[in-house]
Order: sequence, then C-alpha cells, then structure tokens
Amino acid sequence: MRKKLVGKYELGKILGQGNFAKVKLARNIETNELVAIKILNRDQVLQHKMVEQIKREISTMKVIKHSNVVKLYEVIASKTKIYIVLELVDGGEFFDIIAKNGRLKEEEARKYFQQLIDAVDFCHSRGVYHRDLKLDNLLVDSCGVLKVADFGLSTFSQQVREDGLLHTACGTPNYVAPEVFTDKGYDGTAADVWSCGIILFVLLAGYFPFDDENLINLHNQILNGEFIVPPWLSFGAKRLIRCILDPNPLTRMTISEIMEDDWFKKDYNPPCFDVEEDVKFDDIDVAFNNSEENLITKGWTKPVPMNAFELISGSQSFNLESLFLMEPVPGVIKQETRFTSQSTANEIMSKIEEAANSLNFTVVKQNYKIKLQGYTSGRKGCFSVIIEVFEVAQSFHVVELRNIGGDTLEFHKFFEKVSLGLKDAI
Ligand code: ADP
Repeated sequence: MRKKLVGKYELGKILGQGNFAKVKLARNIETNELVAIKILNRDQVLQHKMVEQIKREISTMKVIKHSNVVKLYEVIASKTKIYIVLELVDGGEFFDIIAKNGRLKEEEARKYFQQLIDAVDFCHSRGVYHRDLKLDNLLVDSCGVLKVADFGLSTFSQQVREDGLLHTACGTPNYVAPEVFTDKGYDGTAADVWSCGIILFVLLAGYFPFDDENLINLHNQILNGEFIVPPWLSFGAKRLIRCILDPNPLTRMTISEIMEDDWFKKDYNPPCFDVEEDVKFDDIDVAFNNSEENLITKGWTKPVPMNAFELISGSQSFNLESLFLMEPVPGVIKQETRFTSQSTANEIMSKIEEAANSLNFTVVKQNYKIKLQGYTSGRKGCFSVIIEVFEVAQSFHVVELRNIGGDTLEFHKFFEKVSLGLKDAI
C-alpha cells in the first residue's frame, strides 16, 4: 500500500495523540531522515483567537536551534490540515521515567534540570515563552538528552482549553504560577521559572508540591506558597526549590540567579554553540533563497512594497510561508526593530553594508534583504540579523531588523552602532 505523502514526507504510524493534535512518524523521502509530524485541524487553528501569536511564535521556533528544544523544521498546509514537522525524539516521554522509576537521585534530577533551564533560558532570549511547562511536555532521546516539546505552541492548547473544549483532557493546574490564576496579566519569564520549579520538585520528590482534588484548595495552596520540602533533600536542593517556588513573581529567583546557584552549578556544562551549529539556520536560508527566486522570477527591481496596514500593524516576516502572514504581538518578540528612511533603497542597502563591514560581519545580500552574521559565538550562539527594506511610497522606506541569532543585548548594541553609521539615511 502506498503511504500518504505530505510535501516530501511519507507519513507513518501514530506516535501519540495529544490534546489538540495527532503526532505521526514520517520519513523525509529525499534524505530518509525520520521526523515527527504534528497534525492540526486547519479550520480550528485559523479560527483561533490567538492565531497571530501562534503564527509568530511558530515562525520564531523555526530559527531556534537548541539541543534541548524539539526542533521545528517546517510547516506545511493543506486545505484542511496544518502539518508541523518536528525533530523526532525517540526515547519516549519523560513522564514514563518517573512513573517507572519513581523519584530521581539528586545528581540525575540536576542533570535534567540543567538541560531544562538551558532550553527555557534560550527560548526566552528569543522572546518565546512556553507557558505550559510540565512533565508531559518533556521528551528524552535515545541518549537520554532532555528535549522540551511544544515551545511556542502552548498558546494554542491553552486557548482550546479556555474555550472549554478540552477542559478535562488538558489536565493538571498543578504547574501554574500563582500570578497566572489572578488573571491580571503576567510575565511569561517568571511563570515559566515557576513551572520549572514544580518540575524540579516532582523529579526530586516523586509527587507535586501543591496537590488537592479540590481546585479552590489547590489555588489557595499555590497562592500562599504552602508546601513542604521533602526532608531527605540536601540543604542546597531545598533552598533552590524554596527560592523558585516563591509566590511573588517579583522576588522569585530568575534564570540567571538559578544559573549562579551552587546546587545548580554542580557538574554543569554550559551548552556550547560552535560555529558549525550556528551556520545551520536552514529554514531561514531556505526562506531567504525562496525570496530571491521569487524576486528574480517576478523580475522585481524594487523592494517589497509595504502597505499602510502592514506599516501600522507591525512586521513583515522573513518567513514567506503563505500560511503565516506576520503581525506583531507586543512583548512576544523583543529582538526586532524598525526605522524609516527617505533615502533610496539602494542608498540604504549600501549604508547598511558599510556599517556591517566596519563591524566585521559577514554580509549575504539578496535583493533588498541582507543577512549579517558575526564570527564569534556568545552565550546564546553566533550573532545574526536579517535586515529588509520595504517600500512604503516613492522615497519612503521602512527598514526592518530581526535578530535571529545571539543575545538580545547584543542586538541592541548592534542596532545602536548601525544606526550611528546610518544616521544620514534614517
Ligand atoms: P498535545 O500538545 O496536543 O498534547 P503532544 O505534543 O503532547 O500533543 O503529542 C502527543 C504525543 O505524541 C506525545 O505524548 C508524544 O508521545 C508524541 N510526540 C510528540 N512530539 C513528538 C516528537 N517530536 N517525537 C516523538 N514523539 C512525539
């Protein structure tokens, strides 16, 4: 029997049935590589209230390459379905390890917790929050490496839950930070840290710190931070858990503080982002190449036009998938900025190139898009930016800068330097 093809992927057996999606094994027929494909109902996604945010976060996930985050390779859409092509994680669910073996030894729990914090820190540095971190979203590969799944996708499952459709299937509120209940809006960073604290507790204790069949009692326990630290834990583990499970998000330990903690730091190997890893921005490069092909075949000799709506509503995207037209969600992506210029597009391009050369960046230019890449690799990988010029009207251009690699702080410094070099053009 011939197997169903989706793009270049041959669909295979079902790997799992989630709350809002089916996940199937698939094979890339060009490379034979096995992947996992998450299949969503397209209508359901498109009707979704948070569709813009989902689009944006999925696009961002395409450029996030971290050894502890399930990679998102590409998104394919048919008339009725959306297929999200993911890295296949072949060691099963983390939950099963705990279910089978019970609580972990401190050394083992620490090893996984370090990987979890690395993954969360990395995604936060790219402006993506998980919002639904729990054991069920942690997978392990066959070498025992932890992989966080569903980064950037939780908005969808949460919304479905809010719509009431999945409210029993979606399970446990045990991981939710106190400020999330109060519904006054919350900081995704601190809320994710809280959930990491719950995960650490479960790894070390084998049960939840806050647990009650009665939801109101559970909420009260969480709001008051009422829990008992297992007596068998070391002093360092107890202290770390207490500092993370602080009900006040303002005084709760931050990720940088966790990384400085003595218990956390023991045998810690910070992830290394070598140059090889950094040059594999395949998806971006594909989008880049596509855009070049489009521009050439359509014979465009001008920048892509930007209409008034796009101008007001935010950003175009480097991601050209027709499914996902980009709009901004304030606070979600922080490493993006724009400025306007009355210089000609060619003048702007050469000014950017000059500024980039003076900063020792490699420059790849394609029509009115430039990709700049630094040589050195920092804590968050090699610095990389995409700059694109859009035409709003004759002699009025919008220049958009998106950080796709490296640290947000580096991006801000870079922008300052570039804007100095461009001051005649801005
Ligand atoms: P949902 O988010 O809708 O709950 P999940 O992401 O939990 O769906 O996926 C359902 C199941 O599919 C998981 O429990 C897991 O067993 C399997 N699965 C999901 N992603 C992968 C992956 N990348 N590799 C292997 N199995 C996966």
